[in-house]
Amino acid sequence: MSEEKQKRTEIGEIGEFGLIDRIESTFDATNSSTLVGIGDDAAVIDGGDHVKLVSTDMLVEGVHFDLSYMPLEHLGYKSVAVNVSDIAAMNAKPKQITISLGLSNRFSVEAVESFYKGVKYACEDFGVDLVGGDTTSSPSGMIVSVTVIGEGEKDKVVYRKNAEENDIICVTGDLGGALMGLQVLEREKEVFKTNPDMQPDISAYEYVVKRQLKPTARMDVIYELEDVGVVPTSMIDVSDGLASELFHIAKHSQVGVTIYEDKLPIDEVTYNTAIEFKLDPATCVLNGGEDYELLFTISQSDFEKIKNLSDVTAIGYIDKKENGHKMVTKGGNAVPLEAQGWKHF
Ligand code: ADP
Ligand code: MG
Repeated sequence: MSEEKQKRTEIGEIGEFGLIDRIESTFDATNSSTLVGIGDDAAVIDGGDHVKLVSTDMLVEGVHFDLSYMPLEHLGYKSVAVNVSDIAAMNAKPKQITISLGLSNRFSVEAVESFYKGVKYACEDFGVDLVGGDTTSSPSGMIVSVTVIGEGEKDKVVYRKNAEENDIICVTGDLGGALMGLQVLEREKEVFKTNPDMQPDISAYEYVVKRQLKPTARMDVIYELEDVGVVPTSMIDVSDGLASELFHIAKHSQVGVTIYEDKLPIDEVTYNTAIEFKLDPATCVLNGGEDYELLFTISQSDFEKIKNLSDVTAIGYIDKKENGHKMVTKGGNAVPLEAQGWKHF
């Protein structure tokens, strides 16, 4: 037997994105219909006069959700919404989903039905059909994997690449809410564990709790952009945090980014909750995950067309690559952007 030991690298050493890069580097597309593979929010497949888009996301109990405060119906909705969000991020429309479930014997038929009630609401909201999946037992807990198939127009699909110098950086909705909702839910869970008689009162935090438990995908903005005739130059959905997503756009487009702290959209409840938890609201906006808003860039000539869209905020501009990634603070200082992201490893 060889004395040589197999090298062992911890996943944490290279991180989730490093691992994906490594997987990607060993595979080449062999079919001419594979237009875009690993690396964007969804893969793009030639479908003749249009393109098909495919994306998959997995949610694992104890990692992505905690059923002690996440109702199964909400989980069903969220599982679909986070996948639809990746299709939105490609400027395309979701059409079908498949759902694969791993279930321990802790789950009853009724529990699974609650989950699917949420799935159904989401299917109705986003106009998608559930067309298949897989069901298996799991030694412990619940695993949900959803695949979504979308359709887009060949010349209107938007990637993480193609942002250009002087483009305006825009974001939909407000950010940091889902993270603050998670903080509130985790705190209430601890209170409940130490004193089960204490009924949590989360009414003051309703907005942020909803952002965590029932996020939506911004298909509405995709339709609005279509109506005003704007195709973003680049786009990504905000699943890991604004800073992390800005880095993805910058890396894929080979550009620098500058954003302004005073332009960052934050809801009042998010802001107040951050202060209460002794967190910097701007850090929550930059690094909070799971908001599922859209981050996109447009050319300056399109700004007139989008400036009246109620839920879109311009937060900065695309710069030369050598100027790096920075945020101009409220005090007027340019500080380097740091992406902590939302790491599961
Ligand atoms: P998102 O946050 O938009 O869901 P991810 O960061 O999960 O995107 O994935 C980025 C890209 O890497 C996508 O193209 C995705 O399909 C691909 N990817 C992620 N995990 C794997 C894997 N285990 N094998 C192959 N491709 C993967
Ligand atoms: Mg995405």
